[in-house]
Amino acid sequence: MKYLGIEPEVLKIAVFDFTGCEGCELQLANKEETVADFLKVLDVVNFREISSVEGDDYDIALIEGAVTRGDEITRLIQIRKQARLLVALGSCACFGGVNRLKNVLDLNKVNREVYGKDPKETLPARAIKEIVPVDLEIPGCPINKDELERIVQHLIWDIPFQFPVYPVCFECKQRYTTCIFELGQLCLGPITRGGCNAPCPAGGLGCYGCRGPAADPNYSEFFTIARERGYKKKELDEHFNFFGGFEGVG
Ligand code: SF4
Ligand code: SF4
Ligand code: SF4
Repeated sequence: MKYLGIEPEVLKIAVFDFTGCEGCELQLANKEETVADFLKVLDVVNFREISSVEGDDYDIALIEGAVTRGDEITRLIQIRKQARLLVALGSCACFGGVNRLKNVLDLNKVNREVYGKDPKETLPARAIKEIVPVDLEIPGCPINKDELERIVQHLIWDIPFQFPVYPVCFECKQRYTTCIFELGQLCLGPITRGGCNAPCPAGGLGCYGCRGPAADPNYSEFFTIARERGYKKKELDEHFNFFGGFEGVG
């Protein structure tokens, strides 16, 4: 595909999974109407979910998942040395994600309960940026494929791209969804970064903040509204801790 008659540079990318469910990787291979064009502008040299090729000559490394084992730390440092651009893909990579829920537990005890006499190595879950420098974070559980396509267009053709600074409420209102607060549920939409098109409220579930905080979240107003509606610290903490993007808030 040419832009102004010029063949763009084909980006050599590699996709690596760490501790996660691989749902973000699946998003890369998703969306049949555009996936052929999407892959045409990329030279995929390593992506276990769609190819048996295992190259290590890449410019961009997309990292999915959190870091929860010692061998993952070594592998991640090696990938960082090779990659010109290292991208954290999804909430697990950006914040630790749902894996971070285990950080409040006694891991030795849990290991014994789950694996009995054959315990597995497990460390507290950490985000990628806690181990190596990250050039770009793409949040979401899973990531939004439309957003990723726009980022790739930005990298190849320099088409402007900016993550939304507005919160999820903005997109929720555009969809004419009845506010979840009015249905008696807590929702982090007012303080969470938009860009997902608010699918959770549209499906009848309050936002749990998988995209992390909006650009300038008004926490004090949010807590006032939540308290007025009778929500207690426990419920707020459950929401804030779910994806790990609101650490220290609450
Ligand atoms: S962010 Fe969500 S979809 Fe992506 S790997 Fe983690 S749990 Fe799976
Ligand atoms: S449902 Fe949530 S995201 Fe939608 S308007 Fe209400 S608070 Fe905002
Ligand atoms: S509504 Fe909230 S939890 Fe649902 S996808 Fe959007 S940011 Fe994530």
